[in-house]
Amino acid sequence: MSVAHEIDPSRAATITKHLFNARNRDRYEREVLAGVAAVRAQLGRTVRPFTGITPQALQASVGAVDLDAPLADPAAALEEVERLYLRDAVYFHDVKYAAHLNCPVVIPALVGEAILSAVNSSMDTWDQSVGATLMERHLIQWTADRIGLGPAADGIFTSGGSQSNLQALLIARNRVHERLQIEGADADVRLPDTLSRLRIFSSAVSHFSIRTSAATLGLGYEAVVSVPVDADRRMNVHALRAAIADCLASGNIPMAVVATAGTTDFGSVDPLERIALTCRENDVWLHVDAAYGGGLLTSHRHRGLLDGIDKADSVTVDYHKTFFQPVSSSALLLRDGAMFSHVTHHSDYLNPRSASLRVPNQVDKSIQTTRRFDALKLWLTLRTMGADGIGDLLDTVIDLTRATWQELSAADDFEVVVEPVLSTLVFRYVPAGLPEQPEARNDLIDRMNLAVRRAIFDSGEAVIAGTTVNGEHYLKVTLLNADTTPGDLRVIFDLIRWQGSRFMQSELEQAHV
Ligand SMILES: *Cc1c(COP(=O)(O)O)cnc(C)c1O
Repeated sequence: MSVAHEIDPSRAATITKHLFNARNRDRYEREVLAGVAAVRAQLGRTVRPFTGITPQALQASVGAVDLDAPLADPAAALEEVERLYLRDAVYFHDVKYAAHLNCPVVIPALVGEAILSAVNSSMDTWDQSVGATLMERHLIQWTADRIGLGPAADGIFTSGGSQSNLQALLIARNRVHERLQIEGADADVRLPDTLSRLRIFSSAVSHFSIRTSAATLGLGYEAVVSVPVDADRRMNVHALRAAIADCLASGNIPMAVVATAGTTDFGSVDPLERIALTCRENDVWLHVDAAYGGGLLTSHRHRGLLDGIDKADSVTVDYHKTFFQPVSSSALLLRDGAMFSHVTHHSDYLNPRSASLRVPNQVDKSIQTTRRFDALKLWLTLRTMGADGIGDLLDTVIDLTRATWQELSAADDFEVVVEPVLSTLVFRYVPAGLPEQPEARNDLIDRMNLAVRRAIFDSGEAVIAGTTVNGEHYLKVTLLNADTTPGDLRVIFDLIRWQGSRFMQSELEQAHV
């Protein structure tokens, strides 16, 4: 049985001592700065991207923590985090981290991160995000202007490219259905009946989130038509035209074309102008997935790669990739902001119809409700470094990638798949002295490249990625660190050679037992 009681003031002070408030502001500063100092100390100790620790070893330490027995002392809790996390984390700022699209982050954005989580604005309604809503809108406008989407454009920050793609396709789906109803052809047909006939066209190397979006939206994985790419991994536009014609001929409905501006594996940019023309001729929604290539909007020398992006109906941009922002930070931009009505829901407690006319509610445009003020990070970045500062970083890594491509192509023990336009290289190690017989040779190359990648990760000396090309294992580096030099990459390629020779040696030994 609970009894009404008065709280003793000294006990109240103890209970509330960890709350972020005016009374505890010294503690707030002290503890947050201690956290920053721990990261700073770790930066000083980090000499490679990874320690090579195994999941088993870490699991034992993490699992041993009794979450019901607090340490009480913030310094002790921080020390534990140093041991369980900071010491062995993978560090993207290290010049030999060259695996995925995780970028080194810029300091102004980290200041933003510290501020936004303390104030803890939530971007759903104006009464939870005064000021923040307007700053987010200003950044959206800035991005839409850089793309060239025109006067009716609007957008919304999201948690990432997968979410941006999902929302773009959700809007495209609802728009097609609405149009079918207005045109009368399907006036009585309900959305579920239309779904099975909708088709999305994206290249064979587009991001998997296109397929998962189709499934989530009730279309099924098979609704995504995989359009072949040319040798340079760009969508073949003739194949796209043929696929749309096939779709129409069989009574299905082309819902959207997804062009990729910066494919995750190759950095290739689909021919946006020609795809846009095809979309216009067929009256099909054009979504441009620029999750990777979006940073080119700030580039001095490579903005031309995005020519045609201004013709898109919707665009995904991941600031947490080529704008050097911490996770999470992404946006979905629409040419016609009115299309957001396809995701608007009114609820009496949050954004009643009448009130939302008077105040700017971002929840009207979002598929999230409570949402971080991630935009503050980009804001401080632009206000400190400027867009040119971002563009300089990106141009530097593009130059590095192209120079490295030339070196690798000249080496006779590496095979490079495509000449890069962005900052990704896909290649494999093919040393001399391999068996002549094609099948044995291919099998050995395949297994060696897979083994090399694992061995390098386990050593922690560098982190590189892998992918498959025509079913065979290749290695991949994604270069996003403007501090990385050609010399650093030569060290990585020598590691590959060394691990490759170790693999060959163990193969030989096994063959002899
Ligand atoms: C990374 C990426 C995505 C997914 O973005 P997340 O932020 O990881 O959700 C989508 N499309 C492309 C082309 C990407 O490179």
